[in-house]
This record gives sequence, C-alpha cells and structure tokens, in this order.
Amino acid sequence: MALLHIAEPGQSSEPHQHRIAIGIDLGTTHSLVATIRSGKAHVLPDQDGHVLLPSVVHYAAENTSYGYAAQKFLVHDPSNTITSVKRFMGRSQADIKFQHPYQLMGTAQDMPTFQTAAGQKTPVEISADLLKQLKYRAEQSVAQQIQGAVITVPAYFDEAQRQATRDAAQLAGLNVLRLLNEPTAAAVAYGLDQTSKLELDQNYVIYDLGGGTFDVSILRFSQGVFEVLATGGHTALGGDDLDRLIVKWLKQQLNLENIDNTSYANFINAAKQAKEALSTQTHVNIAVEEHSVELDRLTFETIIQPALDRTLHVCKRVLRDAKLELSEIKQVVLVGGSTRSYAVQDAVEKLFNQTPLCSINPDEVVAIGAAMTADQLIGNSTEQALLLDVTPLSLGLETMGGLVERIIPRNTAIPIARKQEFTTYKDGQTAMLIHVLQGERDLVEHCRSLGQFILHGIPPMTAGQARIEVTFQVDANGLLSVSAQETTSGIQANIDIKPSYGLSDADMERLLLDGYKYAEEDKHLRHLHETKMEAERELEALTQALTADAQLLNEEQLLKLQHVQQQLGTALQSDQIDNIESAVKQLKQQSDQFAALRMNRHIDHALKGTKLDDWSTPSTK
Ligand code: ADP
Ligand code: MG
Repeated sequence: MALLHIAEPGQSSEPHQHRIAIGIDLGTTHSLVATIRSGKAHVLPDQDGHVLLPSVVHYAAENTSYGYAAQKFLVHDPSNTITSVKRFMGRSQADIKFQHPYQLMGTAQDMPTFQTAAGQKTPVEISADLLKQLKYRAEQSVAQQIQGAVITVPAYFDEAQRQATRDAAQLAGLNVLRLLNEPTAAAVAYGLDQTSKLELDQNYVIYDLGGGTFDVSILRFSQGVFEVLATGGHTALGGDDLDRLIVKWLKQQLNLENIDNTSYANFINAAKQAKEALSTQTHVNIAVEEHSVELDRLTFETIIQPALDRTLHVCKRVLRDAKLELSEIKQVVLVGGSTRSYAVQDAVEKLFNQTPLCSINPDEVVAIGAAMTADQLIGNSTEQALLLDVTPLSLGLETMGGLVERIIPRNTAIPIARKQEFTTYKDGQTAMLIHVLQGERDLVEHCRSLGQFILHGIPPMTAGQARIEVTFQVDANGLLSVSAQETTSGIQANIDIKPSYGLSDADMERLLLDGYKYAEEDKHLRHLHETKMEAERELEALTQALTADAQLLNEEQLLKLQHVQQQLGTALQSDQIDNIESAVKQLKQQSDQFAALRMNRHIDHALKGTKLDDWSTPSTK
C-alpha cells in the first residue's frame, strides 16, 4: 500500500495551484505582456485598456511617465523622452552609428548613458523602467505574485545584447526563466512546435515588419528544437517608412513643396491613421490641415511598393543563405503591426506562393508565444516539448597561429556544454591564454573577441604533455561561460563572458555573410597557417636540438642543417604553401639523421648514467 502524504501544519500543499508566469515582448516601438489563464493566452491591458505600451519613457525632474503618456513629450521635450532604447542595448558608444537626438555620456568603450532631467540613465535602466510597468500591469491583472518571465529578443541579438536584456529584467525585479528568440516565440504561438513534432525537419519563415525595423528569420524545427537557419533584415525599414511614403505621395497630390516641421508631423500622423484604417476599410479620406485627399487600398499598395520590394529582396537573400528553395518552406508567419496591411500580406503571399499565418494578432503573437513558453517552463503546461533555442554565431577560441578553433558551432541547441582538450606549445610553458571568439571565419582577426583570461600555474612539462580541458557552456538564455582546467594538476580558471558592448545588427549580418563568402579563402588561409605552424614547430625543435647537441655533428653536417633551416626561413616569408611544404620536407630529411645521432647519444648516456648512479651520487647530469 502506498504511503499517505501528510503536509506540515499550516503548510498544506495545494497540488493544483496554478503558478503565474508571464511572457514579455520588449519591442523597439511597442512592448507588451501576456500570460496563460485556464490554458488560454491573454494579453494584459493597462488601466485604460491599452495592450501595447509604446516603448517610450519621459524623464522629468519630478516625475517619470511611460508609454502613451511619455509619447506626448516627444515634440516638446525630445531630449528627455527616450524612444527605441532597444537599439542601444548592449552597445558601446563606439557601436552606435545610427542617428539619434540624444546627448550620450561616457567614453567610446562604455555603455552609453542618456543625460536626462532625472539624471543619467543607461539603456539597461530605461528598459528596466519599461519592464517594471509591464510587471506591475501583470500583477494588477492577475492579483498574484509573478513567478517568472520569458522575455523575447531578436534572433540576431549577440551575447552582450542578451546580457543587457537580462540585466534589465533583473533590475525590474523579474525572475527571468529564459530569453527567447522573437521568431521562435511567434512559431510557438502558432503551435508549430507541436504540429511539427511528428514530421521530419520543417522550415518556417517568420516575416516581422514592425514600426521601425524589419526582420526575417528562417527557422528549422528538428528533433524538438527550433534552429535559426538564417536571419536578415533592415534596422531602418518598417511602418514609419510606409507613413513617410504616404506623406511623399500626399505632397505630390497637393502640389506642396516644402512644409515645416509641425506640418510634417501632422502629415505623418494623418498618414499613419490612414494606413491603419486601410486594414479594415477599402478606402479612407485623409483630412490634414486644410486638405482632404482620398486614398484607396490599391493606390496605397502602389505607394508602398518600393518598401515592400526591399523586404521581399531580403527574404530571397535569406532563403539563399539558408540554401533553401521557396518550395521547401512549410509555412510563413506574419509578425509586427505593419503586417496588418493587406498590401503586405499580399506581397508575402505572392512571393512564397502560400497564404501566410496571420490569425493571431501580429503585434501580440510574440508576447503570446513567450507566455506559452513561460507557462511550460514554470511547469503548468502538459505540453512536453521544452523549447530550446540555438546559438546565433559559432563560439570558439584562439589557437596558435591566430586560428580559431570552433567549440560550439552556430545553430547548436542550447543549453549546451562542450569540452575540448588543448595542450602546450612550448617546453616548460606555465601559462596559457584562453581567448574566446564569436564568428564564422577561421582567423582570429575576422572574428569578434568576446573576452580572454589566462590559465596560470601549469606545471612545467615538455610541449604537448599538459592536458588543458576547456569547457564552453551556454545556458538556456544564450549566455556563455568558459572554464579551463589543467587535468594533471587540477588548476583551473574561468570567466563568464559579459562583454561591455555588443555587435550591431549590421556587424552581425556581416559576420554571417562573411562566413559564407570567404569559405574558400578561409580554407586556404587555414591551410597556410597550419603549414606555417608545422614549419615553425620543426624549426623550433631543430634550434633547440642544435643548442643542446650541435657538437655531435661534423662541420659539413652542421652546414647542411643550417642551410635547410635558412631555406625554410625564406619559404616561410614567401607565404606560399608549396614552398613551405617542400622546405619542411627537406628539413625533416636532414634532421632525421641528426635525431638518430642524438637518440644514440641519449641511450649511451642513459646506460652510463645507470652505472654511475649505482655507485655514486648523481651530482652531475
Ligand atoms: P515593433 O515590433 O517595432 O515594436 P510593432 O510590431 O508594434 O513594432 O509595429 C508598429 C507598426 O505597426 C507601426 O508602424 C504601426 O503604424 C503599424 N500598425 C499598427 N496597426 C496597424 C494596422 N492596423 N495596419 C497597418 N499598420 C499598423
Ligand atoms: Mg516586434
């Protein structure tokens, strides 16, 4: 008979108590929060019924306002009204190459700080302020404590950008269950992880056209995991551009040449309203200042065609990067407020030759997927697939000759730990530099340095004898820690990679594209580097041998060896693989005889030594 469970007095356990976890889409223009109640996803509104929180904070000396309230200050107090702070996350001043109206403090390497009427604010603090609003909203709405949160980030976010997001969440008092890629969240919202379970590898396109950014990702669902096969996009292409195109058209219609800033702002507002109205009406009347103009869906489509074409162009490129044909895409998911426009939906449908998924509100879909994942992670859901993400770029470390040894290839499912053994290069080497890199290229200089540390105290040994085990560990949030241990002595050292600045989207894209573009060139360079390394090792060994035992050689033998040594030196300068290889071969031939001589001598010596040791103290060696 099974034993009965007895609860501690006053601690009666409620076996079916539902724990509350939330999903947050921390967007560039809008943020929002969702949760699961009775198995259903709900986006949570604020007191005024708004679901979207514009990602805007206004800092005044006395009072801070958020969202729609903060937006009102954009025109009159722009320098204290921070928008699009997501673009600054995990970046150093030097990384920030886009236009913005703010006065940033700090040196080039530092995280920038915004100078506001309420003091200096870092991007992390500003994001934390937005997250606090959403946390508060969730607490009010569920009247319970929030146990944990899943926060979404763009698939291309690197370590630093993810770390900054995580820091912001912690600062907001949230228990971060996981950072989840935005396209993955969208796929989860549509249950694509569940429907794909029974089928072999399926490919999905996530087309995300927001307010100011366009992102497209290709995901492959395989063995319970979404891999990001490729990403692409534009950091300055979104709904705002559509608004500007409408204004340009309006000005043409009305024969207006130059309009002042205030008028322009009015026109933009009117254009935005018209654009949004066209998602439910077939035509609208745009009334702005003293003008009135009719706009129908067809004309709208023509007006925004240039922007649409740019997004389609990116889609095609990303497909090429992923080495996929259009026919290999199982489904297309629409994300972002701008995909509510029929013109956008039609364009995507035409390109992919299938109706895209858009039944879930496209500006809520990411938060909903995040909430579903949070619910699974906290243990409420019966869905079994525990969704994992993958590393966006390969991680590796520097080896001799400026080469990168890949430890965790890109698109590896996380969490993951990988170990690899390394050894020393020189006799008596007591320290080793562990330099951690991210990128797809073979040479250190073409990858991005994430950090480095030195493993000290390796016991002196002959080159190649020490066993240094390096472990790379990426946790479920995509954060990396690296440790190194010399296994014979047990000494160890480690770091958590927490770079103070991040990759820009453009850099990220470049690193990926370079990986494809330079594959051939890298192969050659790697070969050259390896050949040179091998040659240098031979040279080093010969030099050491000559220092020790040159007296074993007659003059002719010595000259011969010195000659081949010199020839190899010259060949190394030439950077020609063939030259180096043939010089190495020559050198090996010549030094083999020398090695045989040395071996004989050592055996001799050892034999003698044994005898001597037997009879006297080994004072000399
Ligand atoms: P982000 O992900 O960058 O924070 P969103 O996904 O919230 O941005 O998208 C905001 C954009 O969506 C704005 O340009 C807005 O005008 C546009 N948008 C919102 N509703 C509609 C609609 N009904 N029709 C067309 N565009 C819309
Ligand atoms: Mg978005």
